[in-house]
Amino acid sequence: MKALVALVGRPNVGKSTLFNRLTRSRDALVADQPGVTRDRKYGIARYGEQSFLVVDTGGITEQESGVGELMRVQAQLAIEEADIILFLVDGREGLSALDETIAEQLRRAQKPLKLVINKTEGRDQELVASEFYRLGLGEPATISAQQGQGVGGLLQDLSTLL
Ligand code: GDP
Ligand code: MG
Repeated sequence: MKALVALVGRPNVGKSTLFNRLTRSRDALVADQPGVTRDRKYGIARYGEQSFLVVDTGGITEQESGVGELMRVQAQLAIEEADIILFLVDGREGLSALDETIAEQLRRAQKPLKLVINKTEGRDQELVASEFYRLGLGEPATISAQQGQGVGGLLQDLSTLL
């Protein structure tokens, strides 16, 4: 059985963009509007000899119940089914209250978890990261899912958690 890696985070942080980059597929719908991915998408990511399943949990739409409830359900699904959780946040928007709520829920799960700060291309990585340490989730990875920076390093980190 391949390990299952879940991408969790509030809408628009870049989960589907990272999913596409990791799986090199166009299976996950990426768009400018938050929450457009209708269903959870699964793909296979490879790193050297290793491979793992990736799931984009962004498929639950926020129309019915609001973004808070959406995130709670999404995180719960990831916690239940994933072996490793990648918790994505937006390095341009900074730390939000919703990020803190999700972090609280994920911390309780006690599953291997990596905090991933996305959209950091062209930014001072240390400076962007500094704000997120207070989440208490350890050393974050800084990446650009869109441009690819840091994604190799993230895969390397992941491979040590497999
Ligand atoms: P999701 O809702 O979390 O799945 O987010 P998406 O993958 O749909 O991305 C939301 C928006 O952020 C889109 O407009 C993406 O093009 C943009 N985006 C994703 N990754 C990056 C990145 O690394 N840098 C920048 N600047 N924008 C990004
Ligand atoms: Mg998405």
